[in-house]
Amino acid sequence: MSSLVSLEFFPPRDNAAQEKLIRSAKQLQALQPGYVSVTFGAGGSTRAGTADAVAIMQKLGFDAAPHLSCIGASAQDLADILQAYKRQGVRRIVALRGDLPSGMGGDTGEFHYASQLVRFIRETTGDWFHIEVAAYPEMHPQARNAAADLGHFVEKVQAGANSAITQYFFNADAYFSFVEQAAARGVGVPIVPGIMPITNSAQLLRFSDMCGAEVPRWIRQRLAEFGDDKASIRAFGEEVVSRLCQTLLDQGAPGLHFYTLNNADTTLAITRNLNISVEAA
Ligand code: FAD
Repeated sequence: MSSLVSLEFFPPRDNAAQEKLIRSAKQLQALQPGYVSVTFGAGGSTRAGTADAVAIMQKLGFDAAPHLSCIGASAQDLADILQAYKRQGVRRIVALRGDLPSGMGGDTGEFHYASQLVRFIRETTGDWFHIEVAAYPEMHPQARNAAADLGHFVEKVQAGANSAITQYFFNADAYFSFVEQAAARGVGVPIVPGIMPITNSAQLLRFSDMCGAEVPRWIRQRLAEFGDDKASIRAFGEEVVSRLCQTLLDQGAPGLHFYTLNNADTTLAITRNLNISVEAA
């Protein structure tokens, strides 16, 4: 499965969370992921937290990619961070715009869009980094419309991105339609679906409303019926997401990027359900 699967983690906040991260990462080594990535900024995490978690992953033997966002950062900050990652042996970066924390006022920084960060990384570090960017099959929530958003995605690829990871979705058609439209605009880089496990209804619905991912009505209804029954939610979630992953692979998705939420169990359960060879897994 190595080249088929990549995994996403977030930086731990304390020692207990770090131990859990390491435990989960060790369990997930069985999947031989092509690479793992570590988020930045979401939930108040710092760049040092991301760099430290990347170092932990590197020690465990993973090809580890930090997420790097540009909104609110200066060119000098970003250049320094890129050099530090280079010294750390990092060869892959997930380049994002990011979001300004609420209450921080308008966007007055030097970078306003991820395409500018991609261009900056190429200008300052050449081909050192493999650059991943974000893609939104169901449209980024701030985009004027889907066509404009697709155009902005194409700009990131033209600026030098090597591949893309999508926001999560539960409707495979949204993904394939996006991939088709991107290809029609000349995009040839892999667009890998981001896969969100379903383990906690309230968290999933809240986060989906924020990031513009659609949770279909039938899934919402089933989750509502389960109430606080965590075991049923988990079993249902594993079944739904496994089926989605299988459809994506069967119809030609180039891989799967799992949002692990620093938890091994669900990702392992889903990958066990998939019809992919154990030798590759
Ligand atoms: P962009 O590609 O810059 O797009 C942002 C918006 O601007 C879109 O609506 C786009 O249509 C529009 N736009 C782009 N270019 C232009 C232009 N030239 N003119 C006008 N409008 C334009 N957030 C974190 O804080 N930390 C993370 O670690 C993190 N990891 C993520 C990983 C993945 C795989 C994904 C899908 C998202 C992640 N996010 C993360 C969330 C992300 O930061 C937000 O979705 C953010 O709002 C947009 O980032 P972007 O890189 O997609 O921005």
